[in-house]
Order: sequence, then C-alpha cells, then structure tokens
Amino acid sequence: MTGPLGAVDVAPALDALPPLDVVGRLHRLRPAVTGAGADALLVTTPSNIRYLTGFSGSAAVLLVTPDRALLATDGRYRTQAAEQLEAAGLSGVVELVVGGAAAQRQAVSAAVHDAKRVGLEAENVTWGSRRRWAELLQRSVLVATAGVVESLRVVKDGGEVARIGAAAAIADAALAEVQELLGRGATEEELALALDTAMRRRGSSDRAFETIVASGPNAAKPHARPSSRKFEAGDPVVIDFGATFDGYRSDMTRTFFVGGVPGPELAAVFDVVAEAQAAGVAAVTPGALTGDVDRVCRDRIGQSGWGDRFEHGTGHGVGLDIHEAPTVGPGSTAILTPGVVVTVEPGVYLAGVGGVRIEDTVVVTDDGCRPLTIYPKDIPA
Ligand code: ZN
Ligand code: ZN
Repeated sequence: MTGPLGAVDVAPALDALPPLDVVGRLHRLRPAVTGAGADALLVTTPSNIRYLTGFSGSAAVLLVTPDRALLATDGRYRTQAAEQLEAAGLSGVVELVVGGAAAQRQAVSAAVHDAKRVGLEAENVTWGSRRRWAELLQRSVLVATAGVVESLRVVKDGGEVARIGAAAAIADAALAEVQELLGRGATEEELALALDTAMRRRGSSDRAFETIVASGPNAAKPHARPSSRKFEAGDPVVIDFGATFDGYRSDMTRTFFVGGVPGPELAAVFDVVAEAQAAGVAAVTPGALTGDVDRVCRDRIGQSGWGDRFEHGTGHGVGLDIHEAPTVGPGSTAILTPGVVVTVEPGVYLAGVGGVRIEDTVVVTDDGCRPLTIYPKDIPA
C-alpha cells in the first residue's frame, strides 16, 4: 500500500492474527505465586503487567490475590487502561483504579486486606519503593520474588509467535530494502537510520532495541553504536536490529562484507561463525537444555582456535522484552519446549580487525525449531 509519503505497509492486520489468550494468564499466575511462597503478588514490571492484562502504559501496579486482581494507574491512562482491559476480555475481572499515587496505594492496601505474604518483584523494585510498600502494608510480610511472571512468559502461545513472526518479517523486508547502501559509501549512522525508517514504514511500532551497525574495526565491538564511519571495500559490517509488532519484538544479526570480498582471516571467521550458528539452531529441539545449544556453538568456535574471542552468551529469549528468559549461555539449564522463542547468535571478534556475528530468532516446534528471521546470510554486498 502506498500513502502520501510512499509508505509501504507489509504488517498483517491485527485481527488476521490468532488472538492473545490474556485471560488464561492470570489463572496460570496464581499457582506460581503460591509456589513462590506468597499469598499475593504486586506486579510492577511494565512488560509483566502488559502480559497479564494487555495494558501497555508506562506506569501502573497490578495486585493479584487469590480472588482479586486490581490494576492501579494514573489519570493519563484512564481511557487507555479501560479499553485495553476490555480488549483483553478482562473488564469485570481486573478492577481498575485511576488516581494519584496516594489513591493508588490506598486501593492496593485495601485489596491486600489479609494477605499475609505479599510478593514484590525483586528485579524491578527499588530500595525506596520497597520501603514505601513496607510502610503501607504493615500487616503483611513483604517477600522478594524473582521470575514468577517471567517463567510464564517463556512458552509463547500461537498469537505471541505470530506477532514475533510479524516483527521478524518486517525486519527482513527492511533489510532487503536498505542493504544496497553498503556498496554506496554510506555511513553506519545513515544505514541505521534507513533501516529504522524502513521498519517503521512497514508497520513496526518502534525499534526492538537500538540498532547496531558496526563496520571495519568497529565490528570487533559486539555492541558498537552506529558512528559517522563510511563503509569501505572489504569492510565487515555487523547489523543487529529488530522490529516491534503489537508489543512483541524480533532480533536478527547479519554480517556482510562491502564489495562481497572479505580478507582471508575474516573469511575464515565468517565460515566458522556461520557453521557454529547453523549447528546451534539445529540443536534447538524440544527437551534440549539451553546450555546444550550454547555448548554446540562454543565447541565449534573453540575447534577453530577462536574460542576466547567469543565472549558473550549464545542467546536469549525474546518476546515483550528484547532480552527475557530463558538465557542461552554456558551451563544454563532451562529446558526447551515447543513455543519457547530464543535467539542463536554466536560471534567472533578480533580487536582492531573486525568481527562476525550471525543471529536468528527461532521458535521451538514439536520436532526441532523454526527460524522466524529468514533473511539470507551470505548475500554479497
Ligand atoms: Zn541481536
Ligand atoms: Zn540477541
């Protein structure tokens, strides 16, 4: 579709995708709260609140007790919160309180009522905020919890996989559009901006994270920021980026060589990383441990003698957050099951020379995995 600015919209219509089963999530959460040793959970992490209620605003708290759920937010979100709860099928299930900070805290305090042990999300709550809750909820004991909602988020339902897949398709199409800039003497910043714009024009609501475009020696820095450096013939160019669709993110890295001809050392590095990445993807199967996937990649790179130049984990879960459970790293013990979405992204970095990283986002299936990012890895640039 072409609009007044030449916009291209390849994103699917939301109602063409399988719906998200938000209602079922609160039911699955309650036993997990009990399992964490709490009678109620105070959810403060925005992506966890979104997961459980559909509410996507930046400020809210969600209290979940055995028989109630209460979402408290401020006046900026009065209409949005009501609309999103309704869209999620939670009107009348999740009570909505809108007001200033004091009114929100009073409502939460009243709803906590006689819950003896109230869980706080330890990875999100600040020291000051813990102190305020302790003053307010004096009849309860505050319990530090970790990963309670996050563990529910590890296995994605069909609606979630479809949204991550839509984000991945947007990213693939955007890269196809801008890749030619590599051969035209553009800068890292120019390519990053073109990529971000192409994703937005295709329906991405935002970047999944700050786009990385790292060329020449900058490619040896795994998380380099795009600079004003111009691409030169023979440069390795590491491009790591993702799109966001209906809150869900994608993550992909490709490494290209300007002019298509790497020097001999980086050509060898590319082959090793490509082999390691393919072996890692092949190791993503139901029943495997995330640590097994990491070991497969690390072993292949180790055999080449560049083991000490692969200094980061092999991957991570992707969903509402760009980095979420499970971790795919040395010794990690999460078990892969159908519906889990992870990245596989080994890399080798040679200081002063350059580097290669190749990454796909994949979803575990009944008999292996399916890559959601499918852009070719070996196109000459
Ligand atoms: Zn990435
Ligand atoms: Zn990643």
